[in-house]
Amino acid sequence: MLRICRALCSRAGAPSRDWQPLSFDGSAFHHKTTAELARAFLVLRLCAWPPVVTHGLALQSWSQRLLGSRVSRALLRASMYGQFVAGETTEEVRDCVQKLQGLGLRPLLAVPIEEEPDSAAKTGESWYEDNLRAMLRCVEMSRGLVETPGPTGNSIMQLRMTALTSIRLCKELTSWMRKAGSSSELSPEKLAEAMDSGQSLQISFLNAEQNRHLQASLSRLHRMAQKAHAQHVQLLVDAEYTFINPALSLLVAALAARWNRPKEGGPLVWNTYQAYLQDTHERLRREAEAARRAGLAFGVKLVRGAYMEKERMVARLQGTEDPTQPDYEATNRSYSQCLELMMNQVSLHGPMCHLMVASHNEESVHQATRRMWDLGIPVDGPVCFGQLLGMCDHVSLSLGQAGYAVYKSIPYGSLEEVIPYLIRRAQENRSVMQGARREQMLLSQELWQRLLGRSPRVSY
Ligand SMILES: Cc1cc2nc3c(=O)[nH]c(=O)nc-3n(C[C@H](O)[C@H](O)[C@H](O)COP(=O)(O)OP(=O)(O)OC[C@H]3O[C@@H](n4cnc5c(N)ncnc54)[C@H](O)[C@@H]3O)c2cc1C
Repeated sequence: MLRICRALCSRAGAPSRDWQPLSFDGSAFHHKTTAELARAFLVLRLCAWPPVVTHGLALQSWSQRLLGSRVSRALLRASMYGQFVAGETTEEVRDCVQKLQGLGLRPLLAVPIEEEPDSAAKTGESWYEDNLRAMLRCVEMSRGLVETPGPTGNSIMQLRMTALTSIRLCKELTSWMRKAGSSSELSPEKLAEAMDSGQSLQISFLNAEQNRHLQASLSRLHRMAQKAHAQHVQLLVDAEYTFINPALSLLVAALAARWNRPKEGGPLVWNTYQAYLQDTHERLRREAEAARRAGLAFGVKLVRGAYMEKERMVARLQGTEDPTQPDYEATNRSYSQCLELMMNQVSLHGPMCHLMVASHNEESVHQATRRMWDLGIPVDGPVCFGQLLGMCDHVSLSLGQAGYAVYKSIPYGSLEEVIPYLIRRAQENRSVMQGARREQMLLSQELWQRLLGRSPRVSY
């Protein structure tokens, strides 16, 4: 059995006896047209320039004033939007997904909705109900667009909890959860029961309005999970800021208690773990163990974490301890340890335990493929990879061509909805945009080769 798995784990072509690292040298770019490569090069160059990211929204409104709305929109569509977004209509998204599938990649649709933590809180339930409708449409699209779902027969999509429940409520729940000895009133099982039965919960430390919002939020999450379950779409819940993450994890645990039972066939609801937080490895170990003891399937999206600057700023302003790792190397070590832990969990508990290695970091991807080989985990099994649309194609394409399950996180929607979302993501991921230098170098190499008329490299 292990031999068969190892053969599957090897690169396409003749199986070799030792693990062979994939080559991320840009040879996979031969699948792309010259126009696509030129756009990727220009956009990534532009995004690596700090003033463009810092003043992105202001630049967008100046360009509208100077060039007029039509020209400005056309420019954005041909650049940032075209590079990082699937499109606006179902047809556009379908075209993008089909193209990805032709390259051996799979879609991980993401609805670009979010409540800004600093903005005035959204009032009323209608904003969240509109978001729920958009998320339910996303479930249908995720199912409908995929020709070949993953090995479990499931498609996957990203879910941002704060599109369905308010940041203010999550903050309130988190600060209460952090108080010693206050864990019995809000157990995942109690919330799961309230979701299932629709019966009203009265939490003593919340006021009447907050209790109503909690009830409405639980109902939205329940409707979302029901639909996802019916359509065989797994929900990968995003991790956000430490001042709300415990509440988000509580809601994930409540959903998991109901929907990740063994009879459901693998984890319907996955949580995201951010390796840049100091306590993540320990928390991951505890939660993997708790899921195993409860007999629940466990799904993990492992990321480094996107909100480092904000986390540090909040800690400075509040005079609290910085929750993030002290430097990039410490985050890398933490990622590597979490990856190791999860690979062992997957090899021990197979289909009950799933992992997405959501990273553009070549070292992390090599570590994952090597450990899959060592442990005999099949390339298209419970471990998959995740990268953002328009980024790190040299890694995604090489993985996809070698038969690994690779998902591209795909935002979609109108220009007005998506551009502010993209600029915020770029601001949060400054170090990533600047770190895309190797990709730029590989893109420029490939473009020069084509301009000089040399045949593209083919390495498979
Ligand atoms: C499919 C997908 C889903 C994602 N979902 C989420 C999510 O739900 N929540 C979320 O927070 N992020 C999410 N991200 C973003 C992710 O957390 C990272 O910001 C991004 O992927 C960059 O990390 P990397 O491993 O790709 O690459 P790298 O470029 O190797 O790592 C950059 C990261 O290292 C860390 N880092 C950089 N400098 C320092 C420093 N001085 N000290 C400590 N740490 C440092 C930061 O986390 C930074 O983002 C997602 C990414 C992908 C691809």
